[in-house]
Amino acid sequence: MIIVLKPHTTEENVVRVENLVKKHGLDTHIVRGQEMTIIGCIGDTTAVDPKFFEVDSSVDKVMHVQEPYKLANRAFHPENSVIDVSGVKVGDGHLALIAGPCSIESYDQVLEIAKAVKASGANMLRGGAFKPRTSPYSFQGLGEEGLDILCKVREEVGLPIVTELMSADYIDLFNEKVDLVQIGARNMQNFDLLKQLGKLKRPVLLKRGLNATFDEWIMAAEYIMASGNENVILCERGIRTFETFTRNTLDLQSIPVMNRKTHLPIIVDPSHAGGKWWLVEPMSKAAIAAGADGLMVEVHNDPECALCDGAQSLKPAKYDALLKQVRQIADVIGKTM
Ligand code: PEP
Ligand code: MN
Repeated sequence: MIIVLKPHTTEENVVRVENLVKKHGLDTHIVRGQEMTIIGCIGDTTAVDPKFFEVDSSVDKVMHVQEPYKLANRAFHPENSVIDVSGVKVGDGHLALIAGPCSIESYDQVLEIAKAVKASGANMLRGGAFKPRTSPYSFQGLGEEGLDILCKVREEVGLPIVTELMSADYIDLFNEKVDLVQIGARNMQNFDLLKQLGKLKRPVLLKRGLNATFDEWIMAAEYIMASGNENVILCERGIRTFETFTRNTLDLQSIPVMNRKTHLPIIVDPSHAGGKWWLVEPMSKAAIAAGADGLMVEVHNDPECALCDGAQSLKPAKYDALLKQVRQIADVIGKTM
């Protein structure tokens, strides 16, 4: 952090600001020019709010030169993180291929989809039991019953399961039953929930908020990591823009940007991004080519009758064709699936 003092600040005022900096546990390095004096703050400035100094009458401006995140920061952890999801590795060349219905509707439905996507090469099964719906009158998910269905299908098919946690009340249940715990876009900045995730012994799939900047998203990951759970996988799922033709706009730039800023794996959910099944294939291929560490795709055996998100769901045969193409791209860029 750098504090620029107003021109011609007196020595007495420089010393006062310097002491203020030291009161926050930081050392100082003072640069005196002819008119301007600059105070460089040395030490851990992540927890120090620039406003502490901005209010001083001698201070012109305060600039952060370091990012406010440490645990998620590539600078402090240059190697790519590899997250282990019940034996399935994600990151640093290992692709997460998550597929399944938006919502768990019945045992037969999930079983049929799970068998199909596994045969195509998926290595994790998704399905919502607790659903964050915009309308209170829409299908809210089967809750605990849905989670039990997902667990039964896991036993039958042998794929780790991914499902969304909406309330800290269910952390014990998710610890017991879920392999990868999804935090949905709408809860990305539910800070009380994020702070509780240290109690989770399972890795977390953190979706990008509907209108979150890169740094807000990383700070959400930082909350989870600072609470004691460093096993975080990021998921780009499109952001709100002025465009209404598509459900959201897939921000492919987030892949190289997050790869540069953090060491965490990043996967892409093209289903919620576009909201249309025919956008899933081209966007999945683009995501893998751009360096994503995996895909989360909604697949339904009967999309026309799906209780949620049928329009963006692929039929199993289309998912199979998609993974054949993704495999070719993965081969070219040296990723394993
Ligand atoms: C989902 O994956 O089921 C979901 C609700 O996604 P998002 O939080 O990205 O909207
Ligand atoms: Mn969905």
